[in-house]
Amino acid sequence: MNNLKTKSEIEIMAEGGKILAQVRDRLAREAKEGVSLIELDELAEKLIREAGAVPAFLGYKPGGADKPYSASICTSVNEVVVHGLPTKYKLKSGDVLKIDLGVLHKSFYTDTSVTVGIGQISPEARKLISATKKALELAIENCQLGKTLGDVGFIINKYARSQRFKVIKGLTGHGIGKNLHENPIVFNEGREGVGPKIVPGMVLAIEPMLSAGDAEIVQLEDESYATRDSSLSAQFEHTVAITENGPYILTK
Ligand code: MG
Repeated sequence: MNNLKTKSEIEIMAEGGKILAQVRDRLAREAKEGVSLIELDELAEKLIREAGAVPAFLGYKPGGADKPYSASICTSVNEVVVHGLPTKYKLKSGDVLKIDLGVLHKSFYTDTSVTVGIGQISPEARKLISATKKALELAIENCQLGKTLGDVGFIINKYARSQRFKVIKGLTGHGIGKNLHENPIVFNEGREGVGPKIVPGMVLAIEPMLSAGDAEIVQLEDESYATRDSSLSAQFEHTVAITENGPYILTK
């Protein structure tokens, strides 16, 4: 398979991942009632540049998009799953905020996301957030040599269903390295033993996205994607390298 990374390339990606994780964790702490999405975006860009990296999403034009992305982070609130463009919207108690961000560091990309409950969130929202986080943990634990990406998708979907949530359709994780999005596609559902084999040198952005209701999505005017029935969604993402010793989370 193409896109395999050497040990030294993985170490460079780990440096970028460390910067990215620190920015993500700071943004998660700053995301509170009354803070606007644009303020979070401005803080993200400042922190990323201060650390000597470049915001990966700024100016990025994914396939299917009309124009390059104009912010450093995606801020997706409640029913919005991914690609929410930061606006002047001020966070309110009860909001479920997904912050997704990436950096380019020494020619390599890393990508991560976190879901934050703002103020007092509903028990359902709390359960959705913790289930999505757990689905990512299980997915990473299953990134073992000899397994396949089908096994990873299978475990995400199985766990989501056990918690009475649905894996959102049409959105996936991806390989990552010299490109923000590269092969292989990392599906959040799958069949055991099917799909690409997990081998050393793979670097994957694994990103389960779960819905508390409908699994179908619709695209909104700002090019973000929301659940069709406007139910709550959550997402967590890590960039994970596969080594001889198993999974190595670069964005911890
Ligand atoms: Mg990603």
